[in-house]
Amino acid sequence: MPELPEVQTVVNDLRSAGIEGDTIHSAAITWENTVRPLSAAQFVKEVCGRRIESIRRRGKYIVFSLDRGAYLLTHLRMTGQYELCAPKQETDPHVRVEFKLDSDRQLRFHDTRKFGRIIFTRRPGEVLDKLGPDPFDPNLTPVKFASAVHKHARQIKALLLDQSFLAGLGNIYCDEALFAAGVHPLENSRLIEPYKAEELLLQIRTVLRQGISNRGTSLGEGETNYVSGGKRGENRKALRVYGLKGRPCPRCGTALEKIYVAQRASYFCPCCQTRSHHESSSK
Ligand SMILES: [Zn+2]
Repeated sequence: MPELPEVQTVVNDLRSAGIEGDTIHSAAITWENTVRPLSAAQFVKEVCGRRIESIRRRGKYIVFSLDRGAYLLTHLRMTGQYELCAPKQETDPHVRVEFKLDSDRQLRFHDTRKFGRIIFTRRPGEVLDKLGPDPFDPNLTPVKFASAVHKHARQIKALLLDQSFLAGLGNIYCDEALFAAGVHPLENSRLIEPYKAEELLLQIRTVLRQGISNRGTSLGEGETNYVSGGKRGENRKALRVYGLKGRPCPRCGTALEKIYVAQRASYFCPCCQTRSHHESSSK
C-alpha cells in the first residue's frame, strides 16, 4: 500500500515529466466509483479544458491544482498507479480513468483493486484539513512532536498510523522508524520518554527520506505492486525489520518477531524495542 515515499515518487515523476502546465483535453472513466463526489459525466465535464497548474503531495494524497479554483485529490489506496503514456499505447482493463492531455499524452489511473479515489473539489480543505501535520513540516519540531505524542495514551504504532495525528506513514515505514528509534510498537504513547519521542520523529524522517531516495518500496512482482514511471521501488533492500520475522535483528541478532497492532502485521526486535516498566504487570 503506497505510503508517503511512494506518493512523493509519483508526484516527482509526474512533475519531471512536465505535467504541470499541461491541460486536460478530455477524460474517459471506465469505473465510475473511482471518481468522487460527482457522477462520471459531471466529473468529465468539470475537468475538461482545465489546466494543471501544479502537483504536490499532502499526506498520502496527490493534489492537482487546476485552474479556476478546482482541485483533483487522488488517494492511491491499495493498488492505484498513475502512468503517463503515448495515446497509442495499448490500454489494459485495469485503467479506471484516462485523461487525454493537450500535449497529446495520456495520464492513466490504473487500479487493479479499485479502492483508489480521485476527488474533484473546489474546497480541498474539507479533505486535507482533517490530516495531521506532514512528517517533513518544518513547523513540526521534535519537541512539538514529543508533546503531541504525550497528549495521547494510545499504542504508539496505532497513533502513528492515524492520519489525523501524522499524515503519510503506513505500515512499512512505521515499523522501520519504531525499530530505528528503539520504541516497541505497543508502547503507550504517554509513557515514551521525551528524548525517545523526539528521536522517533528524526527516525521517521530518516526512513521516509531513504524511501524517497529509493523511489519507494515494492514488495512483490505482480501488477498490484507499486510502480511509478514504469519502475518498481528499490527500498525493499533497505528494510531492516518489515517482513523479516525470524531473521536476526540487524543490531543485536535476536530473532525478529511479528505481532498484530491495530489489525496490522507489525515487525520488531523484542530486545532492542522494549516497553516501559510502568505498564508491565509482573514488575
Ligand atoms: Zn535487536
